[in-house]
Amino acid sequence: MSESAHSPTPRPRKRFGQHFLVRPDIVQRILALADLREVNTVLEIGPGRGALTRDLRQRCARLLLIEIDRDLAAELRDRFADDAAVRIIEGDVLKIDIAAELAGESPTTVVANLPYNISTPLLARLLRTPELYRRMVLMLQREVAERLCAAPGGKDYGALSVAVQLAARARVAFRVPPTAFHPQPKVESAVVVIEPLEHQPLDRAERDAVRGVTRALFNHRRKQLGNLMRQLSGRGGEILAELGIDPRRRPETLTPDDFVALTRALQEAEP
Ligand code: SAM
Repeated sequence: MSESAHSPTPRPRKRFGQHFLVRPDIVQRILALADLREVNTVLEIGPGRGALTRDLRQRCARLLLIEIDRDLAAELRDRFADDAAVRIIEGDVLKIDIAAELAGESPTTVVANLPYNISTPLLARLLRTPELYRRMVLMLQREVAERLCAAPGGKDYGALSVAVQLAARARVAFRVPPTAFHPQPKVESAVVVIEPLEHQPLDRAERDAVRGVTRALFNHRRKQLGNLMRQLSGRGGEILAELGIDPRRRPETLTPDDFVALTRALQEAEP
């Protein structure tokens, strides 16, 4: 990186959730989980000061970086000025059409130490096109990581768990303490690995429909399904009976497949 072109590295910006990774051993564990081959395309979201970026570049064919911070994006442009395989997009990842940017690429590996305030909407977006991704290795707030992987029945299980588990296999790989970052966040973190299923069981329209029903039901997670389903459809009670689901159960006890079955039955009842 040329140090001359820019003023000294700015202080970490709170509004962009900047907590920079300062533990080389954790960088190496993340890279190992990404399991990169030299033919892969990698998308790094929020590369920041590049704790992961140089090592990622050495292990892939093409690297797409999306960074919102103007100064950090400029540093990255300097650093990779001579490398045609690295593309830097300066902007908000939630506003960028990632699918269009990745058009023509083979399934991409996503690696990110995410700003925690955008991790849930970003995950929802990435999961709208799971077929674009080979694997995602994401540093998340520990609670969010556990929610993704939660099984039915517990308090962690919710609409995000259902959306992830219908499209991918997800697991928490390891936890990361606040001391691994500068500045230290107030919360614990965890790295998750999300591997989209090779054969997606649902198409995009079905995923969207399931998400709508899942959210509607989880908005009232303590209520009984019988009442909730009758609010969604005049045939709500019958649908539960046909599917053999006890109307006294609560939404958080349903499996991801149950949500799909309910969505399909609701669509058939009111096309
Ligand atoms: N990857 C670096 C590391 O591990 O040290 C930085 C991680 S820091 C937690 C999050 C990074 O995401 C910062 O560089 C921040 O500027 C960037 N960022 C925050 N919000 C963003 C957004 N909406 N779109 C793109 N990048 C964003």
